[in-house]
Amino acid sequence: MKVAIMGAGLSGLACAITLEKNGITPRVFEKRSQVGDRFVNGEILLSILSRPVRDDLAYLSEKHGIYLRPTGNIKHLHLHSQHAHGAITGALGFNNIRGRHKHSFEKQLESQLKTTEIIFNSTKSYEELLQEYTHVVMATGDAAYAAKVQNYQQDLTVSLKGTIVKGEFDRYMAAAWLDHRIAPKGYGYLIPISDTEANIVIAYPDYPENENLNIENLYHLFHQRVCCDLQQSLEIVDSFQITNYIIGNCRSPRIGNTFFIGNCFGSIMPFLGFGQFSAILTGVYAAYDLCGLGSYNKLSIPLRRSYEQSIILRKAMEQLSNTQYDLLVRALNGSLGHRLFHTKRISPLKAASYLLRPFVSEKVQRFSQD
Ligand SMILES: Cc1cc2nc3c(=O)[nH]c(=O)nc-3n(C[C@H](O)[C@H](O)[C@H](O)COP(=O)(O)OP(=O)(O)OC[C@H]3O[C@@H](n4cnc5c(N)ncnc54)[C@H](O)[C@@H]3O)c2cc1C
Repeated sequence: MKVAIMGAGLSGLACAITLEKNGITPRVFEKRSQVGDRFVNGEILLSILSRPVRDDLAYLSEKHGIYLRPTGNIKHLHLHSQHAHGAITGALGFNNIRGRHKHSFEKQLESQLKTTEIIFNSTKSYEELLQEYTHVVMATGDAAYAAKVQNYQQDLTVSLKGTIVKGEFDRYMAAAWLDHRIAPKGYGYLIPISDTEANIVIAYPDYPENENLNIENLYHLFHQRVCCDLQQSLEIVDSFQITNYIIGNCRSPRIGNTFFIGNCFGSIMPFLGFGQFSAILTGVYAAYDLCGLGSYNKLSIPLRRSYEQSIILRKAMEQLSNTQYDLLVRALNGSLGHRLFHTKRISPLKAASYLLRPFVSEKVQRFSQD
């Protein structure tokens, strides 16, 4: 068996680590010159979205032998809307770094490889890899090839603008802003990457009504708002912008001897755009299949269900006005937030999508029942 993995990101590296542990040495083809060779940004893992798993990092290490160190564990999640501010407290998840930083998740994964060779600056196409290898794992972080082979349903695309700012930060927190004036049908967030630097980002969907928005102006508004809420003047030291970030789901996780993992599988949860945990799991599950330890199609069913629940939640949230956001933030600041984040018995994502399903459009309901 000769396995090629296309892409040395979270899912591709998790797949390679798991294959190695089970006696298969794949070859990884990465188009960039090193692992994580892109802008630095802060990301988070929110445990509420992974239920029944309660601690994503402990689960990955104990169950799957994938070891990751976060920047901090999130004890406070601050929520801001136009006129309200609230905070949820507890063991909520983890902050982590991505990209060129020496402690980024992708660098940490790379260091766990022992025998796998990574071919950098690769220009190999999927078709070429198919000729040379018995199995190809598609882990390019986009849906291009999945779409090319008619294996992808795109649900939306998102525009993002982010910066790294200097200031004083509590690395055990994260913050989100729900305000249509700043990110229409989207949100803004702040994730500390150290005690002195944080990533602040706005993200909104590319719907026709958002077509004429000026992302620079919106980001400027957001930056001012964050400075005001944190009572600090935050100096921008780096920035990035992403257009057309695709959110969707593959129709089949495996076609013949090609496996679609990470964002090629559809690991990004449409609700908040989170995809790290699922991306790593899809890499692990595809490797289990290749090693004869399970069926990727079956193992990934819960992730597909989460995707479907998440898109319902997103569509429902998009319908809320700023006044309703204020009410929501105040409610989450109280016992509702505590109950949601600390419940052990139910998956809040599953429960919320079930309750909200009647309020979202026909199209989403049909999609979720497919
Ligand atoms: C700004 C931003 C913020 C985010 N925030 C969060 C968050 O807070 N929490 C969360 O859980 N998720 C977040 N996500 C989503 C998360 O980052 C992704 O879901 C996850 O990285 C997907 O992993 P992947 O392996 O599919 O792709 P990636 O980790 O992106 O890796 C893809 C790799 O493939 C390589 N590649 C691309 N094309 C080719 C090619 N043709 N040949 C060879 N190699 C190729 C790339 O260079 C890259 O190394 C965020 C995403 C963005 C963009």
